[in-house]
Amino acid sequence: MSRATPPGAALEQVRHEGRSACVIGSGFGGMALAIRLQSAGVQTTVIEARDKPGGRAYFWERDGFTFDGGPTVVTDPDCLRELWALSGHDMASDVELMPVMPFYRLNWPDGTNFDYSNDQGQLDTEIAKLNPADVAGYQRFLDYSAAVYEEGYVKLGTVPFLDFKSMLKAAPALATKQAWRSVYSMVSSYVQSEKLREALSFHTLLVGGNPMTTSAIYALIHKLEKDGGVWWTRGGTNRLIAGMVRHFERLGGTMRVGDAVTRVHTLGNRATEVETQSGWREKFDAVASNADIMHSYRDLLAGTKRGADYSRSLAKKRFSPGLFVVHFGLEGTWPGIPHHMILFGPRYKGLLSDIYDTGVLPADFSIYLHHPTVTDPSMAPPGKSTFYALVPVAHMGKLTVDWEQIGPMLEKRILDEVGRRLIPDIHDRIVTKFHYAPRDFAMDLNAHLGSAFSLEPILTQSAFFRGHNRDDVIGNFYLVGAGTHPGAGIPGVVGSAKATAGLMLEDLAR
Ligand SMILES: Cc1cc2nc3c(=O)[nH]c(=O)nc-3n(C[C@H](O)[C@H](O)[C@H](O)COP(=O)(O)OP(=O)(O)OC[C@H]3O[C@@H](n4cnc5c(N)ncnc54)[C@H](O)[C@@H]3O)c2cc1C
Repeated sequence: MSRATPPGAALEQVRHEGRSACVIGSGFGGMALAIRLQSAGVQTTVIEARDKPGGRAYFWERDGFTFDGGPTVVTDPDCLRELWALSGHDMASDVELMPVMPFYRLNWPDGTNFDYSNDQGQLDTEIAKLNPADVAGYQRFLDYSAAVYEEGYVKLGTVPFLDFKSMLKAAPALATKQAWRSVYSMVSSYVQSEKLREALSFHTLLVGGNPMTTSAIYALIHKLEKDGGVWWTRGGTNRLIAGMVRHFERLGGTMRVGDAVTRVHTLGNRATEVETQSGWREKFDAVASNADIMHSYRDLLAGTKRGADYSRSLAKKRFSPGLFVVHFGLEGTWPGIPHHMILFGPRYKGLLSDIYDTGVLPADFSIYLHHPTVTDPSMAPPGKSTFYALVPVAHMGKLTVDWEQIGPMLEKRILDEVGRRLIPDIHDRIVTKFHYAPRDFAMDLNAHLGSAFSLEPILTQSAFFRGHNRDDVIGNFYLVGAGTHPGAGIPGVVGSAKATAGLMLEDLAR
């Protein structure tokens, strides 16, 4: 392992010696921020409410199976490697990333399969199977995706949008890329096959966005995957979190797990102390919240004018949908079922409208099927397989059902559909199963309305219009994670940590 200190790092550390920071929440964003602060010499404490770190990347072990609760697709591994490289370490000594190929298999009810990867020759063959004329159109779409990736991710992905001026600076680039159009509309201008339009636009769902309304800028995800690949962490995404925690503690950081923060105390416009459920209370020079944005302002800053004002404004915003996830362990192995599959339903636009607009629980669904044991058999006992099947559902502000009652019914319908499409005797093979509904997101993660991805990523809630990395009023209170720029997804929240760390380190050096 390399222990070389990067140039300038020592000076950075001296400038921050004696300064302290608290990060509330240990999601990917919280851990990435904590590592950045600790790497720069700020004595950092992470406080996590749950019994394990990771946030959406929580995990369960049941009957010998390992079930990751959230993220399964790791993209842009370089944004993670950077967190180790900051202090001259190598991520590979803590975490093993394995390539996943194909990236995804997309499947439609008529039996059509589309294997999507960054192998251009293979991809062209797959596209030609759907519509030969779209091979050239796809190339033009890829050029567009590369251009928005450069503007939206490389140049602006880690920039804190604190004032409207910064938004105006970005506006010309956004205008030339027709950011007001939706991803689906932009994709449709390049390719004719409806199936290919779905294949090239569904990615926004991975960060909580409706492909029909999310800005075309999000087409950058396509380029991000193409260049950086799709990866799996051996042992599950939970191992990536464990590696981040190990690295943070090695740098001298402190984890306080299983003790929810109940209040961020303020004096004038400064955050002064953090108090937890157990009664523990400590002073910090700076406080950053990785917890849900509404919870941070409404509950943790309760009693302050700023908390009341901003939570009122947040209540008017659009939050992304919820997710319903069925975790199941099966007897047997399925080498023919790839690691990531999307089982599209009979409707695309209509289904999205049910989830994002009308808020009904549809009779049909599109399923994301996760099958880690095909890449990594260590996720299940020998001869057995781990799966999760995920469907987006409207959040609890739109869909007011009793999840205790509906959950088992929906779970059965989803398993029936996976059985019909892929595993006919699925019910006979189940060793263990359970589900996770929007209500669980709300109860376990303090997620507003049980939303899985925080604020919906629409143009009017992006960049300057999203949660600011540094609060406008409380000068030493910061945000990191899905509710801030650039938004949800591992690369998004790790990018937000870079933006927030930049501000905090500058402020703490004063
Ligand atoms: C099922 C699912 C699948 C996904 N799949 C992918 C994928 O494949 N690839 C991808 O890139 N992204 C994926 N995402 C999105 C990605 O997981 C999230 O956007 C990202 O992990 C959110 O990170 P975060 O930093 O915002 O923190 P979160 O994960 O939201 O963590 C916030 C933390 O704050 C803690 N907290 C809350 N309140 C308090 C309090 N009062 N005191 C102390 N702690 C508190 C919570 O317990 C939690 O640990 C998926 C999300 C879900 C839900």
